[in-house]
Amino acid sequence: MNLEREVKELATRWPTRHTLSKHHLAIVGHLEGRFKALGYTSKRHAYSQQGRPLNNVLAEKSGGSGGAILVCAHFDSRQENLGAPEAPAPGANDNATGVAVLFEVARLLKNTPMRHPVRFALFSGEEQGLWGSTAYASECKARGEKLTLVFNLDQVGYPDKAKTLFLDRDEGGVSSNNAASAKLVARLEVLARTVVKVPTKIDPVEASDYVPFEQHGYVVTGLYEGEYRYPHYHKSTDTPDKVDFGYVSNMARLTLAFLLDYAK
Ligand SMILES: [Zn+2]
Repeated sequence: MNLEREVKELATRWPTRHTLSKHHLAIVGHLEGRFKALGYTSKRHAYSQQGRPLNNVLAEKSGGSGGAILVCAHFDSRQENLGAPEAPAPGANDNATGVAVLFEVARLLKNTPMRHPVRFALFSGEEQGLWGSTAYASECKARGEKLTLVFNLDQVGYPDKAKTLFLDRDEGGVSSNNAASAKLVARLEVLARTVVKVPTKIDPVEASDYVPFEQHGYVVTGLYEGEYRYPHYHKSTDTPDKVDFGYVSNMARLTLAFLLDYAK
């Protein structure tokens, strides 16, 4: 199954995906290759932090009109000590699962006509404090770019016993975009219960790559587990055997159903 293969590859091919590790460029190259294999042209979005040149990876499905839908996930990882960039940090749940869902959705949407362009963004530096998404969101804002919504995937592989899907609603920050986020989440709730048939819970938008977009007034939502529930959060033990791939698959189905419902 694609999702499982993707998570295992990301979590085992390099000892870590820490943004300041020596593997950064190799991982960026791998992600570009994955987009290419799915029929997309990808491009690097370069930024720098602490004097280091760093990269996000973007790809876009053209067609449709108006602002693009931005689907994003961070590809970097960390373990107990954020200051040890080469220490093992497989980051299977956080966030190889989000990357895997993003690629699966990109694959399934590739030849589907949509009313909006769909842009995919894989961000680095999330674990250091949203470096990659902050740099990219500022550039979008500076260009006056219209993004119709931002959909973030972060940690989507470790459910509670009831397999609850957590939906993220913008309840703070800039207030002009809160109502639109609530509307998207209401739709996500309906789809989760009818298409995926699982219970849902609403969480506030916080601490992931949609935050800088929210701060610039963009409408955001996403799927994100609270770290308080995952015992291997930010540990070297965040390995693929901890991931519930049936749940990851439900997250992919919900993401896909939502995007088709919104823009097909
Ligand atoms: Zn994360």
